[in-house]
Amino acid sequence: MIANIPHSIYEAQENFKLKNYSVTDLVVHYLTEINNKKNLNAVLETFDHEALQAAKIADENFKSGNTRLLEGIPILVKDCILVKGHVASAGSKMLEKFVAPYDATVIRILKENGAIIIGRTNMDEFALGGSGENSAYGKTLNPLDETKVPGGSSSGSAAALAANLCLIALGSDTGGSVRQPASFCGVYGFKPSYGGNSRFGLIAAASSLDTIGVFAKDVNDIKLIYDIIGKQDTFDGTTTPDSLRTKIKSKNNFKKIVAYPKEYIESEGIDSEVKNNFIQSLETLKLKGYEIKPVSLESLKYALSIYYIINTAEVSTNLSRMEGLRFGGGDVGEIKNYQELFSKSRGKFFGPEVKRRIILGSFVLSHGYFDAYYGKAQIIRAKMKEDFANLFKDVSIVLMPTAPATAFVSGEKRDPLTLYLEDIFTVPANLAGVPAISIPSGFDSAGLPFGLQAMAAFGCDENLFTFAEDFKLDII
Ligand code: GLN
Repeated sequence: MIANIPHSIYEAQENFKLKNYSVTDLVVHYLTEINNKKNLNAVLETFDHEALQAAKIADENFKSGNTRLLEGIPILVKDCILVKGHVASAGSKMLEKFVAPYDATVIRILKENGAIIIGRTNMDEFALGGSGENSAYGKTLNPLDETKVPGGSSSGSAAALAANLCLIALGSDTGGSVRQPASFCGVYGFKPSYGGNSRFGLIAAASSLDTIGVFAKDVNDIKLIYDIIGKQDTFDGTTTPDSLRTKIKSKNNFKKIVAYPKEYIESEGIDSEVKNNFIQSLETLKLKGYEIKPVSLESLKYALSIYYIINTAEVSTNLSRMEGLRFGGGDVGEIKNYQELFSKSRGKFFGPEVKRRIILGSFVLSHGYFDAYYGKAQIIRAKMKEDFANLFKDVSIVLMPTAPATAFVSGEKRDPLTLYLEDIFTVPANLAGVPAISIPSGFDSAGLPFGLQAMAAFGCDENLFTFAEDFKLDII
């Protein structure tokens, strides 16, 4: 076992170079730890054989001095991102037997740069949830306090990183699923601009909101990884063309001016400790020379409502292709016709939250209600995008807490609406398509971590890294 496990890519690679431990030592360490901490239920499967083979190659590369940017870096991947030759079940019985026929683009790029994919992590079924309790493979525990939830839907990725079962983890973020669990587990969680990196090989939840994000303990690691994966991909037509990226960035150089939506922060239901921590963070920034602007963003008060219209509409559409015939986990018994096949297999292989979203989504898209719900939601979404674009003309960063409370007791938020309210601060970034990051910002009286959420203008993901690094120096 390794005594001083690394907390950043730089630290790991320095140790490899100094021969304090080899890549193989580190991979074996993580694989052993994953096994020792099975009770967390953070990791669904490890890819031992391949990981050890890749570690051997990385060790040889360190010997010859011929290394790549992510040489030897062990990464865990959320169960909805395809890793060739391995099951990608999206936390569902519906895809229990689905073996990925190819690598997602982000996985291909990470592997090409020397990273080692060591396994897949547990998640809320089809990325629907905010607590890690909706997986068909059992709930994940928060390693900081096992009676608490780790957040979700990228529950396993956040928990595994916090428990030191990997150095970097990937997740997907449709309405907060990287940032909220990062906040609950005390690590960094980043969601890129919509189209910032490729989603080819991501099992879709809600396509106009989905992004692939990164968890790390050091914000520089996220910056490095995003430098590598943040590229146009011909396999994903929604990725921003490379030619446009520099243009967008150059228009938005980092200024030390931040805004926060003052009414939104005053919303009912925000824990007083969370609010105090947020105010403290603003104070810290003032000392550091930041100008702080309280602003009003009218459209924000509709964010949660329109998110749950758009999300359910798109989820019901995306999941309509799942019939369970080839990939479902189990037998559905005698079937007389297609009708019966669909109802039996979807009844059996989908969990309750997935069914709830499909029903809600089918309703908001149905004839007669489409304009009243989906149509209106799209209009408000456009207004919200515009509001953010205008705001980012003057400020570089918009701040909010990541979540209205710290990690809650497992089983405490059984009622779906209470759980949906958890997403109040994270959904605006997905609706507006802008990048956002959750930054660890201290601990509550029970010792659970707070997250400060920073958002930046579309395409200006770099500004988040600059800000997070600056903020970190202050709180140390
Ligand atoms: N908690 C949110 C939801 O359940 C976010 C999910 C996500 O980002 N995948 O919709």
